[in-house]
Amino acid sequence: MSAAAAPVPRILVISPNWIGDAVMAQPLLRLLRAARPDTPIDVLAPPSVAPVWRQMAEVDEVLQTPFRHGALQLRERWRYARLLRARGYAAAYVLPNTLKYALIPWLAGIATRVGYKGESRYGLINRMHHDDVPPRPMVAFYAALAGAPGPLGAAPPRPALAATPAQIGAACAAAGVDAGRPLLVFAPGAEFGAAKRWPAAHFAALARRALLADPRCQVALLGSPKDHEVCAEVAAAAGGPAAVHNLAGRTSLAEAIALIAKADAVVANDSGLLHIASALNRPVVALYGPTDPDHAPPFSDRAAAISLRLDCAPCRQRECPLDHQDCMRRIDPAMVWQRLCALLA
Ligand code: SF4
Repeated sequence: MSAAAAPVPRILVISPNWIGDAVMAQPLLRLLRAARPDTPIDVLAPPSVAPVWRQMAEVDEVLQTPFRHGALQLRERWRYARLLRARGYAAAYVLPNTLKYALIPWLAGIATRVGYKGESRYGLINRMHHDDVPPRPMVAFYAALAGAPGPLGAAPPRPALAATPAQIGAACAAAGVDAGRPLLVFAPGAEFGAAKRWPAAHFAALARRALLADPRCQVALLGSPKDHEVCAEVAAAAGGPAAVHNLAGRTSLAEAIALIAKADAVVANDSGLLHIASALNRPVVALYGPTDPDHAPPFSDRAAAISLRLDCAPCRQRECPLDHQDCMRRIDPAMVWQRLCALLA
């Protein structure tokens, strides 16, 4: 009797909880795939981030985490680890820096567990990298996990996502966007906090300029359900829903990715949608206030990062501690328009 074939060892990547971070982790997967072309790579991701991983060619299967955000849920993690044990993982790459995510591959008995020290995860992580001070740009930070602990030898590849023509056609039809006309996408939200948002009145002024310059142009506002209100403000100030489509909260993340893939250009705060637009290689104007543009810069072939680099920046606060949010308010729509025109030229 012949022995049953041993299961093919797989790699597990545990996703960060933010969309932008997931996009910036994609080069790590490219490096892993290049080093081991025959090893399947699965990603364990929260439902809010899973659609991003599904657009990556290197991912074999996306598993959705059943855990609540912020909760330890030890018993649930132990149960889930038993399921993972049965899938035969040889190595796990733990991208969040918290203890609770490092517990999962340890409980699952995965032999090689790679990650940063994070919350002093000695024992749980057994191929430990140490955090840089100051931190590297995020793409390099994640990509370094592909090799031995230490500096990354060469510049990492650029994050890349793709959407198929069928996905783009279906998303345009569902959103009421005319695929035959020019499309600008604005992302006026920022999940992290209000300090990162360029004012709604500025986005509206930019939309009015764009529509005046080309009446065939369509402006779509994308974001999560939490961004719907601020996008409604933009749409109202720009001339109403006939001029601007407020799609925040009305598309799935997969549809938003497809609409961005169709866009002639994207204007976004420092947010997950900005990094999606970059990874789809769309022309991008990125607006930075309380965050550091060098930490997570746009990486499209055609991109403009605008930051006033005030003395108080980057404060990295969710709300402006000085109560004026000048880092964003003082970015003039005329300046953004000029950079947008240069990208579209
Ligand atoms: S303190 Fe400065 S950088 Fe921070 S939100 Fe306020 S204006 Fe922006």
